[in-house]
Amino acid sequence: MFKFRSLKKKVLAICAAAAVGFSLTFGAPATASASLTEDLIVIGINSAALSSQVNSQIKHFNETEAGRQELYGEFQKKYGVNEDPTYNAMLDRIMANLTKGVAAVDPTIKEKPYKYFVSNDETLNAACSMGHVMMVNVGTFKLVPNEDEIAAIVGHEMGHGQKDHVAKGNKKVVTKYIIANVAGAAAGATIGGGAITSVITQLAFNHSVAHGTKKQETEADALGFDYMLKTNYNPGACAAIMQRFVDMEKGHKRSAIEKFFNPSDHPDSDKRRDAYVKKLYEYSGKKVTAENGIVTINKKNFIKVAPAGDMSSAERSYFILGNLAVAYHNGLNKQEATVQNGIVMLGNQPIIEPAEGDEDAYTIAERLNSIK
Ligand SMILES: [Zn+2]
Repeated sequence: MFKFRSLKKKVLAICAAAAVGFSLTFGAPATASASLTEDLIVIGINSAALSSQVNSQIKHFNETEAGRQELYGEFQKKYGVNEDPTYNAMLDRIMANLTKGVAAVDPTIKEKPYKYFVSNDETLNAACSMGHVMMVNVGTFKLVPNEDEIAAIVGHEMGHGQKDHVAKGNKKVVTKYIIANVAGAAAGATIGGGAITSVITQLAFNHSVAHGTKKQETEADALGFDYMLKTNYNPGACAAIMQRFVDMEKGHKRSAIEKFFNPSDHPDSDKRRDAYVKKLYEYSGKKVTAENGIVTINKKNFIKVAPAGDMSSAERSYFILGNLAVAYHNGLNKQEATVQNGIVMLGNQPIIEPAEGDEDAYTIAERLNSIK
């Protein structure tokens, strides 16, 4: 992270950044030691002029079609475009479904549809930069073999996009960076319009710009959940993907999960999971919840879910919780639980298809009828 200290130290920080080829990374905007205006006065900059220059450059990338296209092209060049037809078809589907989901909550998406691609990066991550430019790493498709969970990740990124988190973060960071650079003007450096463009471009192309403050992360999580509810995806997938991160951390696959769950800019995966479980509980009318792989209805044990495929018991339980939450939200709990083609149903809502290790469908349906 680019940290702001005293003016003298800022100059040193810039030298260090230059030495490693402008490897300026940031998550949460750094806290300035003095206020921005004070800093500007000290080094004699017209803050209004600087601010307007920064704003117009960010506006170019964030709001104009030409700027958006530039960013999109640069991201594709930098990270590489993966042409795998299965992954691309899946991302097309996810984007089409979620775009409708977002539009139901926030119609402004229609004015700025997302530009997206599958990147060649093998880590589990996705990023949304300014201008609704989005990429989902090929590693995400390889490590999350489940469309609903990938949709949960993409929905979170669209939450950042809809709230312009990156553009807002960039305004603060870029302005501070420029002040630091101008502080070095004593040593002969100058900064003009071209340099400002270059700073913003570098920041925009930096993958880590995709994530903001913890407050923004929490907002993106909440929005992602709301968008998922407006699609046919299982809203339990939001909790399930967090459980997958928790399980991956235990299984030493942590290096494969990059910034999407990076503790420095995201709350811990288990806390994010718990927040989603709470939302599912509320969506169900405070009837259904799950913990440690056990789903409960009306505070009574419904089922201890078996692990299946590469999913842990807990990860899989959140899909069943999601199905039940939707059923309860839609009043289907007033209907009988039945078994159709081996699947336990509540009204027309599938609840669980028993896997090896689960009880049989009829036993599960019978218990559902007795406690629902
Ligand atoms: Zn995020």
